[in-house]
Amino acid sequence: MNKQKIIENARRDMDKYLRVAAPVAESNLRRVLEAFRAERVSAQHFQPSTGYGYNDAGRDKLEALYARYFGAEAALVRQQIASGSHAICCALAGNLLPQDELLCLGMPYDTLQTVIGIKSIGAGSLREQGVSCRVLDIDFAKPDAALIASQIRPETKIVAIQRSCGYTDRPALSVAQIGELCAAIHAASPSVIVFVDNCYGEMVEEREPSHVGADLLAGSLIKNIGAGIAPAGGYIAGREELVERAAYRLTIPGGGRELGATLSDNRNFYQALFLAPQIVLEAQLGAVFVASVFAQLGYRVHPAADAPRSDIVQTVYLGDAELLKAFCRGIQKYSPLDSFVSPEPWPMPGYANDIIMAAGGFIAGSSIELSADAPLREPYAVYIQGGLSRYHVIYAVENTLRDLNML
Ligand SMILES: *Cc1c(COP(=O)(O)O)cnc(C)c1O
Repeated sequence: MNKQKIIENARRDMDKYLRVAAPVAESNLRRVLEAFRAERVSAQHFQPSTGYGYNDAGRDKLEALYARYFGAEAALVRQQIASGSHAICCALAGNLLPQDELLCLGMPYDTLQTVIGIKSIGAGSLREQGVSCRVLDIDFAKPDAALIASQIRPETKIVAIQRSCGYTDRPALSVAQIGELCAAIHAASPSVIVFVDNCYGEMVEEREPSHVGADLLAGSLIKNIGAGIAPAGGYIAGREELVERAAYRLTIPGGGRELGATLSDNRNFYQALFLAPQIVLEAQLGAVFVASVFAQLGYRVHPAADAPRSDIVQTVYLGDAELLKAFCRGIQKYSPLDSFVSPEPWPMPGYANDIIMAAGGFIAGSSIELSADAPLREPYAVYIQGGLSRYHVIYAVENTLRDLNML
């Protein structure tokens, strides 16, 4: 195909997607603004605190905002949460006791396998503490809610659902699909807690899993909802008693959410929530551009450029280790920071294979900024996500493919 035509078509696919996704961004921003107004946010809430962090008004207000956005009873939003996996670990460990069973729908994200102790009972893992785990192999394209609900046992305490694909060859679950699962699981056993790993999913749809029956969810602030502005952190939202127990795990039993100073200016966290609907839209438009270009070049991509989305991840099946490394190096080269360095695969803690990561963003490791990463294993798929501006994604992908003589 004419090379110029490929870019033109991809831009057209972006415009088509914009017509579907812009109303979602608008609706989410309205919900965010209604939360700001209801909570009467003002500049005084940007003040940091010190020491124990008792009566930290800015922190408590931010958590109230998140709870409103998620339609949840409570939220925990903290800089002290080191990563998305840490948020998920607090949510799970705070709510599981010895002899409880954690039922995972599909193999969980790499780092969580270590948290749970799926492959080996590592030090500090949930399994070491007497929690058992069962991984159900489910059809993510068409999850059978009744069949899944029938797998619940008396000892099953939490059913864990991962919304996004992670580093696996599966589609993301839509919020509607998660809602069907929640309904079936709660009908089978009202006391079971449905937990959702919401990483990469926030603000992609008009509703969050917490609006459709999820009891507890968690995610990272260096992904969607941090909008490339929050410098670090994670969140947990859901039913009050469950969030409180997660907070007992993060700080101390009894102290919970009352503890934990906001050490730096809170403005970034507030402004991030305000900008997130727009930034998540930009990231999706970039993903659609990538999907369109690579599909036209003959590669399998997931999701397709015109498919509905429930996360910001774009998978491209490059099928070749050398091409995968070259692509990641190109993305790095056309990023604002560290454009002169060449990423190398390395054994990242918590991952089974070496990982190559292109990340030239302003926040270290941020993947709401344009990032491309991949485990060095079959089928040599690269996972591309983020982009604070769709134009940066166009620029980086176009130039990378030119350098590789693919365009
Ligand atoms: C990013 C991610 C996580 C958490 O990863 P961290 O690197 O610990 O923030 C968990 N689950 C999924 C599906 C993810 O994409």
